[in-house]
Amino acid sequence: MPVLRVALDLPLHRFFDYVENSASTAEIGLRVRVPFGRGEKIGVIVDVVDESDWPAAQLKPAIEILRDLSPLPADFFRLCAFASSYYQAAPGEVIMQALPAGLKRLDPPARRQARAIKPTAAAARPCLTAEQAAAIAAIDLSGGFSAHLLYGVTGSGKTEVYLRLIEQVLASGRQVLLLVPEINLTPQLEGRVRARFPEAGVISLHSELAEAARERNWRAAFAGQASIVLGTRLAIFVPLPRLGLIVVDEEHDASFKQQDGMRYSARDVAVFRAHQLGIPVLLGSATPALESWANAQGGRYRLLTLKERANPAAVLPAVHIVDTRRLALKEGVGEPLLAAIRERLARGEQSLVFLNRRGYAPVLACPACGWVSRCTRCAANMVLHLADRRLRCHHCGCEHRIPRSCPTCGNQDIHPFGRGTQRLEGWLQEQFPEARILRVDRDAVKSRKQWEAVLERIYGGAADILVGTQMLAKGHDFPKLTLVGVLGADAALFAADWRAPERLFSQLMQVAGRAGRAELKGEVVVQTQYPDHPLFTALAAHDYRGFAAQQLAEREQAGFPPYTFQAVLRAEAPDMAAAIAFLQQAAALPAVAGHPKVMIYDPVPMKLARLANLERGQLLVESASRPALQAFLPDWREAIEGLKAPARLRWHIEVDPLEF
Ligand SMILES: [Zn+2]
Ligand SMILES: [Zn+2]
Repeated sequence: MPVLRVALDLPLHRFFDYVENSASTAEIGLRVRVPFGRGEKIGVIVDVVDESDWPAAQLKPAIEILRDLSPLPADFFRLCAFASSYYQAAPGEVIMQALPAGLKRLDPPARRQARAIKPTAAAARPCLTAEQAAAIAAIDLSGGFSAHLLYGVTGSGKTEVYLRLIEQVLASGRQVLLLVPEINLTPQLEGRVRARFPEAGVISLHSELAEAARERNWRAAFAGQASIVLGTRLAIFVPLPRLGLIVVDEEHDASFKQQDGMRYSARDVAVFRAHQLGIPVLLGSATPALESWANAQGGRYRLLTLKERANPAAVLPAVHIVDTRRLALKEGVGEPLLAAIRERLARGEQSLVFLNRRGYAPVLACPACGWVSRCTRCAANMVLHLADRRLRCHHCGCEHRIPRSCPTCGNQDIHPFGRGTQRLEGWLQEQFPEARILRVDRDAVKSRKQWEAVLERIYGGAADILVGTQMLAKGHDFPKLTLVGVLGADAALFAADWRAPERLFSQLMQVAGRAGRAELKGEVVVQTQYPDHPLFTALAAHDYRGFAAQQLAEREQAGFPPYTFQAVLRAEAPDMAAAIAFLQQAAALPAVAGHPKVMIYDPVPMKLARLANLERGQLLVESASRPALQAFLPDWREAIEGLKAPARLRWHIEVDPLEF
């Protein structure tokens, strides 16, 4: 009797064997219902073998082989195997996380027919600039694997490059996977793709889709009915029978990194997938991740550059760095910015004030005794939200009513310290009573529907001043927006996190790029106490290249990625001592000694050391050689699995971590 080797959604580095049910013959790639423990599970058949390593008497028969979906293809399993070994993730978990929830349920819901899409006439194609044409010509769509980095300033028309390439790929009968950041999946890009290719079958895949829609779209992609798949990071694993091109837009965006469960970078998996399939991959950004930039400089990626804005009338905005040390500030805002806003109001143009901190104030404090609103579950402050009169922890989500007096000393005169978007919004409204002010942050915009409504208001000119966080920084064209003010950027300049300058620069370049995209000239006003900081000098000159070169030189000297390769082992436990003790044990394992090219640091508490009542420690491992690190990790992981961890301790390994 043949034995089915089955992938199940379990954190174990092995598959599970079942005896074939005599009623039907199995095929690799089909889903199967199997008994597990006292219940049942849905799994995927990854192999059919003659004999199991387990005694035949211990094997249970599979219950039912499911045939409502054709078998998952070999390249899907190859991609999952890569992700499993690269990220030290359990192979069954990798395979099962790639399937939509509906395909993993024992009681699948009734399926409805997909709605037919009414074909419309295709939207016109704009003329290409010489740079766009050169970028397109540089990509050989039938020449096998190639990786390209499309570095284009904001407004240079990267999307048009994608669309022209998509057109060619569709003409050759193949599919395109277009990955976008979580927040960027807006009607704007989706609408443009649909309008250009009304008959291609465009489907989207992202976390906000209802379960049924996600399954329907996933099936359409897998069956090859949809030629264009527009998705966030989770879409990178969708099996596509005719995939001919992968595009990763805004490739620097942190949302391509999955931070829980299986911790992977969808951008990096995209490059690997293209390599496995022998197809081109295109990464696009106005501020590429420094890893990608280094790859382009080193020749691993081919660099394609768009230096000019697609609309020649839309010049890059003038950036003014305003020294706040000699300036009287009211609520953190200086007169130059207020005057610039006043000018925009008089001309009927829009302004955006960027403050990347939501809430009313980052903390509530008592000046008499020094009490501050700390979260009881995390090593963090509770943020004051005046709009719904709450103190809220942005890390664990727990919240309280605002106390009337200091909980420690009873003082009734407790104050908010610092400012967030709500406070700024209220204050700006007092300064400009006639202005229509729109706040855009994750408190004001919680769903895709609300996001669409907000964008509608901005496009329609129904807002004069936008107050927003990084939500507003990404890839949107607001034709009437001519002024961007930047507040509170200094904190990131001297952060302990060595990636902070890269993130800040990218954010500021993106948000500055919102100003003056159409015929109206844009202006950016950055308030800072460090006007001579090289980051601001580079920003004022729109000099990504200079900034990247300087940052990479620093990293090379300090031995940081991309010049070394890193992984972390993290442990979470009710008390820090247990977490650190476990990490110390892991550092002392004999498996470590066999890998001299890998360096292990001392265990330390994480930056946010306590989250939702769990203390978190971590251990950094590093090597100058990627293969050495990759050879070490499986040995080490197996040895750690053999350690006796305290009952309430959980651990995981993250490869290429972005946060510490
Ligand atoms: Zn007090
Ligand atoms: Zn908390």
